[in-house]
Amino acid sequence: SLRKDNKQFAVIGLGRFGRAVCTTLRGLGHEVLATDIDEAKVAQALTDQIANHAMQLDSTQSSALKEAGIFEFDTVIVAIGNYLEESIITTLNVKEAGVPHVVAKASSDIHVKLLKKVGADLVVFPENEAGCVLARSLTKPAILDRFDLDPENSIVEIIVPDEFDGKTISELQLRSRYGLNLLAVSYNDKFEINPNPNQRLYKGSAIVVIGTNKDINRLPNLSS
Ligand code: ADP
Repeated sequence: SLRKDNKQFAVIGLGRFGRAVCTTLRGLGHEVLATDIDEAKVAQALTDQIANHAMQLDSTQSSALKEAGIFEFDTVIVAIGNYLEESIITTLNVKEAGVPHVVAKASSDIHVKLLKKVGADLVVFPENEAGCVLARSLTKPAILDRFDLDPENSIVEIIVPDEFDGKTISELQLRSRYGLNLLAVSYNDKFEINPNPNQRLYKGSAIVVIGTNKDINRLPNLSS
């Protein structure tokens, strides 16, 4: 293959989450082995071409995983969110066999804890994470003043968010992380234009930034 970054992944569990993982990995040109205990899900994965290979197996059986070659993979994704016992045993099986990167999907806080205990290298909790992203997108930073340049772009003065407290301007990486340019720092209605990047920001002050409204709304909001 001409692609040097082509990698191999094994996905265990072909529910909504596992299938989405397969589809995206395939779309990015990686090689995917998809497995499920349910023969119909395995057949569907092949029909939909969401994986290069698909196999029916019970992942709680270490011997079945070994036979399927799962332990040879560098990265295994355990996508069994709604079956706690199966998810834990499967994760334990692949970690015990020495698979270096095991990603597991959790569906509750205790599930997250258990997966970490049995050695999962990365635990994802999609329902929880999606809820946090939504809540953030519904709240906006505390805007003191704004100047609308056009319907899409503005200059805004906002209270320094908690997350920025005590950090230097350069540490914030406003340009690379948010696409915003910092124009000034203000304190008690006095503005310092073109502040030194080594200057620290504190909660009591404000910053003036220019950018698109979309980027401005991505700034962290005040929590208190
Ligand atoms: P989602 O929430 O992403 O839809 P589910 O947790 O409902 O995912 O689906 C998990 C998948 O894992 C199902 O397709 C199920 O058949 C499969 N599964 C459950 N137990 C095992 C097992 N022991 N071995 C392999 N696959 C399993």
